[in-house]
Amino acid sequence: MNWITNYVRPRINSLFSRREVPENLWTKCPECGTMLFHRELSDNLNVCTNCDHHLAISPRQRFAALFDGGVFNEVKVPEPVADPLGFRDQKKYPDRMKAAQKSTGEKEAMLVAEGEIGRTPIVAAAQDFSFMGGSMGMYVGNAIIAAAERAVKLKRPLVLFSAAGGARMQEGILSLMQMPRTTVAVEMLKEARLPYIVVLTHPTTGGVTASYAMLGDIQISEPNALICFAGPRVIEQTIREKLPEGFQRAEYLLEHGMLDRVTHRKKLREELVSILRMLGGLPAPVAGDLPAPGPTATARSEADETPADSTSA
Ligand SMILES: [Zn+2]
Repeated sequence: MNWITNYVRPRINSLFSRREVPENLWTKCPECGTMLFHRELSDNLNVCTNCDHHLAISPRQRFAALFDGGVFNEVKVPEPVADPLGFRDQKKYPDRMKAAQKSTGEKEAMLVAEGEIGRTPIVAAAQDFSFMGGSMGMYVGNAIIAAAERAVKLKRPLVLFSAAGGARMQEGILSLMQMPRTTVAVEMLKEARLPYIVVLTHPTTGGVTASYAMLGDIQISEPNALICFAGPRVIEQTIREKLPEGFQRAEYLLEHGMLDRVTHRKKLREELVSILRMLGGLPAPVAGDLPAPGPTATARSEADETPADSTSA
């Protein structure tokens, strides 16, 4: 209890230990470098409170903020064959999977759920960039098909949140086959005359941009998201030309007609509700805080269980 233990030792420790900030408490904004308190950040939907940069958000966290009262039911996704090619790079594919499952606490790179937003029933799917770069493998393909089939069965719109580095190379051609498969799934929705809305988040690239992420009836993006097939660096090296400022970013794509909207994450829910109710021919959304679900809401959610029910009619 003297100045050596209280002052000198901590100083020496801080000089010599390369300790990073504890991950569970603070996150550094990759854009402006501000240290953000974890709870504050998640309360703000993982948007930097200083510069408004949209950090990645997990599907589960997104759904908790999206659905009324944070309540949603997960839709079961059929399991594909594990490691069909016996693939190995520096690590075996099953080992990579296990590591990703451990770090994210999720089974795979996409989560499918059903529930209500602003009292509007929907099916939603969200891709998890922190799970092997959100790469599109057979499971993601199955997830999108499961989501589309569920939407058709319940006659609900499908809202998809994309985030991906592209196809999952560990599954080779089987991963690329998910491009036509998911395109057919989207066609099912169009045939059933159900809205399909895509929300592109940072980054959405590669085979995902070349299939289901670009087929929405409405294409919305979060601010400053990188959306491309081949990335800017690859293009720059190929054509040997300097690319314009903000190339392949959401605002640039909006200006050039690739997107319908660029919407702040905190305004997204409200906007989705308006669009979905408009497309579904439903009355305008109720503004302000909704009262707790009463007997009518209970009756409706029970009716949702029966496949013959048509809530969007
Ligand atoms: Zn920031």
